[in-house]
Amino acid sequence: MQSLWQDDAAPAAGDDLALRVHTSRLLGRDKSLVLHGGGNTSVKIAETNVCGEAEEILYVKGSGWDLETIEAAGFSPVRMAHLLKLAKLPALSDPEMVNQLVTHQTRASAPVPSVEAILHAILPYRFVDHTHADAVVTITNTADGEARIREIYGQDVVVVPYVMPGFDLARLCAERFAAESGPRTIGMVLLNHGIFSFGDTAKESYERMIALVDRAEQYLKKHGAWNVALPTAEAAHTPEVARGLAKLRADISMAAGFPVVVSRRTDGKFLPYARHPEAATISQQGPATPDHVIRTKRLPMLGRDVDAYTEAYRAYFAAQEPAAKDRKTMLDPAPRAVLDPEFGFCAIGRTAQDAAIVADIYGHTIDIILGATALGGYRALPAKDIFDVEYWDLEQAKLKKGGKPAAFAGEVAFVTGAASGIGKACVESLMARGAAVVALDLNESVKTLSSKANFLGLVCDVTSEEQLHAAIVQTVETFGGIDMLVLNAGIFPGGCRIDALPTADWQRVMRINLDSNLTLMRECHPYLKLAPRGGRVVVIGSKNVPAPGPGAAAYSAAKAALNQLARVAALEWGADNIRINSLHPNAVFDTGIWTEEVLASRAKHYGLTVDEYKRNNVLKTEVTSRDVAELAAEMCGPLFAKTTGAQLPVDGGNDRVI
Ligand code: ZN
Repeated sequence: MQSLWQDDAAPAAGDDLALRVHTSRLLGRDKSLVLHGGGNTSVKIAETNVCGEAEEILYVKGSGWDLETIEAAGFSPVRMAHLLKLAKLPALSDPEMVNQLVTHQTRASAPVPSVEAILHAILPYRFVDHTHADAVVTITNTADGEARIREIYGQDVVVVPYVMPGFDLARLCAERFAAESGPRTIGMVLLNHGIFSFGDTAKESYERMIALVDRAEQYLKKHGAWNVALPTAEAAHTPEVARGLAKLRADISMAAGFPVVVSRRTDGKFLPYARHPEAATISQQGPATPDHVIRTKRLPMLGRDVDAYTEAYRAYFAAQEPAAKDRKTMLDPAPRAVLDPEFGFCAIGRTAQDAAIVADIYGHTIDIILGATALGGYRALPAKDIFDVEYWDLEQAKLKKGGKPAAFAGEVAFVTGAASGIGKACVESLMARGAAVVALDLNESVKTLSSKANFLGLVCDVTSEEQLHAAIVQTVETFGGIDMLVLNAGIFPGGCRIDALPTADWQRVMRINLDSNLTLMRECHPYLKLAPRGGRVVVIGSKNVPAPGPGAAAYSAAKAALNQLARVAALEWGADNIRINSLHPNAVFDTGIWTEEVLASRAKHYGLTVDEYKRNNVLKTEVTSRDVAELAAEMCGPLFAKTTGAQLPVDGGNDRVI
């Protein structure tokens, strides 16, 4: 492990908070040290308050911040004098401890301080760094972990047995530190949890962390337990596998009581690990550190029997709950991680972001388990300790902080013609409602519409059945299914009267505007049928369906045929709980084809100003892509839950349609 410290990149000496931010980010950049909100850091700074009194303040990482991206505002300033008094109490409940931390800060807008704040306060060093380093956790999750740690570090670290984070851990660390620390002490190892380093400067504390973790890595290398290789495995990416995944997602969503994203991973060690001959044993011991439990649950599901998994989870809850200090309400019993020899690894989350976090954590867990197995056997903490963290009020509060889930959280939408105009606006409206969205377009720019975890942009020619099949398989592997289908792709060729319309032009419009939608509807039907909240199809039609115009025969005929296709689908698929509704927009000018010049020339043609031309409808209002997209998204929501086979104009009112 290499130090990332560079003198010329660091803030000037003397600004301790800026230095604290800087080295916290250096730690956060290494995923083998901390992941997703894990780990914490602090600095003690002497200040003068508004009354002119000197006081020492502990700036400690606030909850909800990631070390990789933390800023000065992410550190909570807590009065040291009070923290040291708290540390001397014989006992303190967790909710009261948090109350004490929050009420003894010097900035009203600061985040809630880390629950490890008192522990940071009692360590007599200006800078304190804490990580859940993979290498250290690998060694401590073995039967003789403590002996190995003492062999590696000797007098350089204080060793603390596992206790749940919070007041009791701070007390125990204070005792151990008083009893074991000496002139050589530069860190502290918390068995089955992580490691602390400390120092007088940000650089010293950071570099001690790197050096300590490096010693653990070297030890693993020496014992053949570092980056353990597995035989490569070949993954199948077929429609059969995709249908199996969608069925699994339907079962897990049913068990959870809400729709979930299922994200398949076969890269790196995910697939070989799922096929490991001892997977049934080594994967069923428990998480690498207890705080992973709120993301991954205690155990991954092996295979696809969701009923058996939920039954085992209920049994685990029933066995552990009576020993808890206060009564607990069971969380949903659905798995968050799945190992299957055909699928590889599946990460499950209420959002695509949650699923991505599960995959990140489990990728590191695999390395930790394989390393500890090579050392002689992976041994996680007993179920009781994991349960205590899973049902700890403070961890539950972290999860609840996200608030009410978004309307389409856990649901997956598939949008065609998505690189611009109405399609692009539909992507935005669906993502704003929490859906995971797959966007298709011929234009390469579709791939970079969004960098969020709940977006996947695919270049696809909708007239190619082969490309559509591949896009559907990729959608299901990425998010687990298809719940909403927005049929938007289409072309509007320049005006051409029937007596001069070439057959090839007619057929081209039919292929893109009509035939591709039949293929998509047919191929998506098995997935829409499995949608946890019922499948939804929104057809972006046209005013030309009820009120065609001259010169647009192919376009109008294709849209009218698509309209009839949607009506028949509404009849045929109602029994599968799939709703199909159509929108008929008109005169939406904020799309790629309507440049300023084209608009100006059309307006002039009718003897209108551009503004009059844009509002040339009954309501004298402008219709935008966003207006159409918002209606399309609402048609997928509860407002239209009892509506299918409907056609709705979104055109500001058109006298020929009315
Ligand atoms: Zn920790």
